[in-house]
Amino acid sequence: MGSNDHAVVLGGGMAGLLTARVLADTYERVTLVERDPLPTAVDHRRGAPQDQHLHGLLPGGAQVVEDLFPGLLDEIEAGGAPVMTDYSELKFSPAGHLLSRDAKPDIPLYLSSRPYLEHHIRARVRALPNIEILDQCDVVDLTSTEANDRITGARVQHRTEGSEEETLEADLVVDAMGRGARTPAWLAELGYNRPEEEELVVHLSYSSRLLRLPPDSLSEKLIVIGPQPGRPTGGGLILQEDGSWLLSLVACVGVRPPTEFEAMLDFAAEFMPAHVISALRNAESVGEVSTFKFPANRWRHYERLRDFPQGLLAIGDAFCSFNPIYGQGMSAAALQTAALRDCLKQGTHDLPRRFFRSAATPMNLVWQLAAGADLALPEVEGPRPLPVRILNSYVGRLQAESEHDPVLAGQFIRVAFLVDPPARLLRPATVLRVMTGKWRRPAPASAAEDSSLQA
Ligand SMILES: Cc1cc2nc3c(=O)[nH]c(=O)nc-3n(C[C@H](O)[C@H](O)[C@H](O)COP(=O)(O)OP(=O)(O)OC[C@H]3O[C@@H](n4cnc5c(N)ncnc54)[C@H](O)[C@@H]3O)c2cc1C
Repeated sequence: MGSNDHAVVLGGGMAGLLTARVLADTYERVTLVERDPLPTAVDHRRGAPQDQHLHGLLPGGAQVVEDLFPGLLDEIEAGGAPVMTDYSELKFSPAGHLLSRDAKPDIPLYLSSRPYLEHHIRARVRALPNIEILDQCDVVDLTSTEANDRITGARVQHRTEGSEEETLEADLVVDAMGRGARTPAWLAELGYNRPEEEELVVHLSYSSRLLRLPPDSLSEKLIVIGPQPGRPTGGGLILQEDGSWLLSLVACVGVRPPTEFEAMLDFAAEFMPAHVISALRNAESVGEVSTFKFPANRWRHYERLRDFPQGLLAIGDAFCSFNPIYGQGMSAAALQTAALRDCLKQGTHDLPRRFFRSAATPMNLVWQLAAGADLALPEVEGPRPLPVRILNSYVGRLQAESEHDPVLAGQFIRVAFLVDPPARLLRPATVLRVMTGKWRRPAPASAAEDSSLQA
């Protein structure tokens, strides 16, 4: 087998699909192994239970996806995905600060259900001639050289009755099996150290329901109300490609949103604008309430390992997984695959070390955003060294000014949506604007005019 003959990707979620696309440029053949039967139409699947909950592709990730599949964003728009360019259609309240609706972050935001987005990406991957998808196939183990210094393939078991276990020989195996990925255990079996695991526990729970609202019930297309200090609950409502709306309610630090629809509305009424609640009370429910539990942000620090076998990578949630309320996971996977694509331009020599180091740079930025936002909630337990406290206090002030200042709101959105790095919030002009914001604030409105969350 030549050194760029065959690559195998384990797991056909978002990270696996994007990775297969990247590898297809370097390897003669790519095989993608997934245990679910992969639908050929837009549909939920068992291995992606998160697809029943609000799922936004942030613009920072959408740019990478478009680079990998030119024309894909137009395609999903043509199929019905709402695109937000006018940000007055967004109601976004991070940490209790409703951002100015006059913000102009100058980036389109594509809205859809997760199954719809995954379907379009999967169809593009299926169309590539050198990618073979083996679905209904379980990954069992890796194979390696006698010295265990190189992974030589993967053992897989087809789910069709009577089929035998098969060994897929490969020059590169990429573990994209999500948070339950097996690479740490495999490393230990092969005599290597496991990666250090950095965790920030949030004990998050979701309750979601698909709805139909009477036409023109809302002027918004996306509403996101995050938890805030003293209230570890929040929720979102997103318009999807078929005109349906998905309501997701969240609660962290062990609090649970209700799972009965009427109780969900009462729960949402504590933080959602009154006009949204009244639209929701007129909604027709489609299907059942779905729930999900997410324990902790987790970064497996492969980039810190000194020894790692050649021929093996871990990507997506298998590498780094974030509190999903910030909508970063698919984009983080996309940024990792962009790092992989850049590494492959320099060849495949010493790929694991180069890839993990390169992907760790954008993951560090995403981690700062997610962990920083989680630690801004006093209810979340975790280390808060002085720099974190100073930064969180500054970001809180910036968010407060962004309620009235569309320039700051636009800048904050570009960072939260992974278009600009967090350091943009610390540029002198931005810091000055935050510090002098009180002189630009409008005169206090009377209670009746107060636009807080009710308009
Ligand atoms: C409730 C919730 C809401 C979220 N909301 C957002 C959001 O708004 N925006 C966003 O960008 N991200 C969001 N995310 C995160 C996002 O879904 C993931 O980060 C992203 O999909 C990357 O996942 P992945 O491909 O690495 O792993 P996964 O999606 O877990 O995919 C792993 C795949 O591997 C397969 N697999 C596992 N084991 C085996 C095996 N032994 N053999 C064969 N196949 C196997 C599984 O079936 C699955 O298809 C959310 C997550 C959750 C939980």
